[in-house]
Amino acid sequence: PETANSPMIKPINKHVVHKICAGQVILDLSSAIKELVENSLDAGATSIEIALKDYGEEWFQVIDNGCGISPNNFKVLALKHHTSKLAEFPDLQSLTTFGFRGEALSSLCALGSLTVETRTKNELVATLLTFDNTGQLVAEHKTARKVGTSVTVKKLFSNLPVRSKEFSRNIRKEYGKLISLLNAYAIIAKGVRFVCTNMSGKNARSVVLKTQGSGSLKDNIITLFGLTTFTCLEPLSIPMSDNCRVEGFVSKSGYGSGRNMGDRQFFYVNGRPVDMPKVSKLVNELYRGANSRQYPIAILDFIVPVMAYDVNVTPDKRKIFFSDERSILQYLREALGMIYSASSVTYSVMNID
Ligand code: ADP
Ligand code: MG
Repeated sequence: PETANSPMIKPINKHVVHKICAGQVILDLSSAIKELVENSLDAGATSIEIALKDYGEEWFQVIDNGCGISPNNFKVLALKHHTSKLAEFPDLQSLTTFGFRGEALSSLCALGSLTVETRTKNELVATLLTFDNTGQLVAEHKTARKVGTSVTVKKLFSNLPVRSKEFSRNIRKEYGKLISLLNAYAIIAKGVRFVCTNMSGKNARSVVLKTQGSGSLKDNIITLFGLTTFTCLEPLSIPMSDNCRVEGFVSKSGYGSGRNMGDRQFFYVNGRPVDMPKVSKLVNELYRGANSRQYPIAILDFIVPVMAYDVNVTPDKRKIFFSDERSILQYLREALGMIYSASSVTYSVMNID
């Protein structure tokens, strides 16, 4: 057969690259809002409000009372790989912030339309900033606002046609995932008040999630899931090797959540919500030995030295790479095994409000 000509290798247009990468950082509604909530937490906010229009399909906004953004950062705020949180590569080893790659705002610009209202304690008035799809600042107006920052994203994915269609079609599912994610932050963020509201069509805005900003995990769990659910949980604090421990709550053997698997399972590493499929699998497996009719609720925070893991594994930072995952799982297996074999098994299906 005739051999084809070898095609020319050319660089991809940088705006196209920007869009491709942005779609990897921001996968869906909940990863978009996750980035904004993490920015608010990094800014030291004690109050974070998430406002949705049509479950986030039309627009969403994250409003905080954090430190605000100083005017000399306005121009570079939404540029790719611009961050105030990481200066040198070694800083990656001692991360204490949620963000560090300067990709979230730049990605949101590429995928929707971004405006930011912000004020620091040094300014008397706030500024409303408008950015274009490449992350360039295109307009600046004075406005009234307390100290803090509000970020608004309109029409997420409108310029990625396929994803935009999927987004609209799956909006209720995306919304469910978002609520679960907000629960994860609201449980663990001590002293931070969370409110999420939604406005559908012409209906009045309604509150869909609310916490008081208590300093304790226990209070946050009670606020979110009710006292009845809380009394069915077993607190745990398990020391592991090398300055590691795991803290949190799991269902007592007789009282799981009758709902779907993973519905109320929240995993954290040093207070950072992450996906831990292996831990979830292990908890479910051990629980099944004691209660085969339900799934356990689990809220587990792995406290480990910052050197022991890497969050820079996937663009959305939900995956964690542990240097010694096997022994972590082994300790957990032993500790939970003790809890679930010690208690006498009584089945009772709780009605969870
Ligand atoms: P990263 O969080 O990785 O630094 P982002 O794109 O999320 O990247 O944010 C870029 C920068 O904008 C942050 O480093 C921070 O300085 C500033 N910023 C973003 N959101 C806020 C906020 N809510 N309050 C204060 N500063 C913010
Ligand atoms: Mg960020």
